[in-house]
Amino acid sequence: MTQSSETGTRRRFLKFVAAGAVSLPAASSLFRPGTATAAEAGQLDEADPAAAALGYKEDTTQVDGAKFPQHKPTQVCADCRYYQGKAGSEWAPCAIFPGKGSVHARGWCAAYAMK
Ligand code: SF4
Repeated sequence: MTQSSETGTRRRFLKFVAAGAVSLPAASSLFRPGTATAAEAGQLDEADPAAAALGYKEDTTQVDGAKFPQHKPTQVCADCRYYQGKAGSEWAPCAIFPGKGSVHARGWCAAYAMK
């Protein structure tokens, strides 16, 4: 990823924060990847307000392309810099949603940033 595309991702994410859609702990974790703990149990609920604000879906093919035109079906959590799972893990915590459960390797949200 280039520095300018990372800046763009951060800028989009900060817009969500400014709109109050994402909690401050989640926002601060953007700049501290790896802070989520293994104690996080369960799976991130797509209906969680922060998840919904970022359009999180467990299946990237279910993302609303009209609402998130930057989405590409080839983009998945497993390839995102905020995914905290090992290669091949099906579920893992995400640094963007600390304490809210794991995201699916084939998922996606608007904070996606390629590794
Ligand atoms: Fe987290 Fe990235 Fe998946 Fe969004 S796309 S839920 S930031 S791992």
